[in-house]
Amino acid sequence: MRLENKVAIVTGGGSGIGQAIAILFAKEGAKVVAAGRRIEALQSTVAEIVRQRRISLGLKKSGGEALAVTADVSSFSSIQNLIQKTLEKFGRIDILVNNAGIYLAGDAVSTTEEDWDKVLAIDAKGTFLCSKAALPSMIKQGKGKIVNTASIAGWIGFEESIAYCAAKGAVVNMTREMALDFGPKNINVNAIAPGVVETDMTQSFLQDENAKKSFLDKIPIGRIGKPLDIAYAALYLASDESDFVTGETLIVDGGWTAR
Ligand code: NAD
Repeated sequence: MRLENKVAIVTGGGSGIGQAIAILFAKEGAKVVAAGRRIEALQSTVAEIVRQRRISLGLKKSGGEALAVTADVSSFSSIQNLIQKTLEKFGRIDILVNNAGIYLAGDAVSTTEEDWDKVLAIDAKGTFLCSKAALPSMIKQGKGKIVNTASIAGWIGFEESIAYCAAKGAVVNMTREMALDFGPKNINVNAIAPGVVETDMTQSFLQDENAKKSFLDKIPIGRIGKPLDIAYAALYLASDESDFVTGETLIVDGGWTAR
């Protein structure tokens, strides 16, 4: 198993990409803390991890190596609580996946100041705050992996997405910055930039056949991404296999940005 006995926090672990990452990491032997705003969603991730573990162990009962913790990534006190709960339960933090995020549409004229602040507070500041809170444990342990979730909207421009493009662009460069500061402490900081992936976030676009076709026209691989496509990239960046990779953004977009 590629993450045997590692302790991983996955923010936004109750749905979409975060849920796929949490379940895949647990399958690979990690103890997973699924963190986010909605306890029912987080508990469903934990229940699936426990179910799969029970099957794999061939046991009737299993304690399950997963924990659900409600947390708001835009609040430092909430994240400090998440770190404390993780340390109480599992005693260490090896991997942090900064996956929680929101998307709000709008260009520079139509986006309200409130929407701008909301997107930046969760997508950009949330990545900073969770890293800030988890890093001291990783430094003490002498090893750690941070995997940030950017977007191809942080790499190239996307129409009517000014706050999201700004926030995800910040994640890409925050990743390089943290890699420089914490490389000497044996902590790798990388990001993934997904293209369009089928989740709650993109459901409304993908239900519109014209919008879906316009996405597909831009994807050489010819399909929309699945949460597991991103989870496999996160697995590589969280595992020891990527020990010499840091400050990098791995684009997983079916070739959208290749042209
Ligand atoms: P999603 O809406 O299913 O997941 C986002 C998760 O973040 C949800 O579980 C939500 O509850 C959580 N969240 C939101 N605000 C939070 C807060 N303040 N504190 C804690 N948790 C919070 O959508 P997804 O597509 O799985 O998104 C996961 C990540 O992938 C996001 O960062 C998103 O920007 C990024 N992304 C998604 C796509 C895509 O096409 N789906 C593309 C590029 C990047």
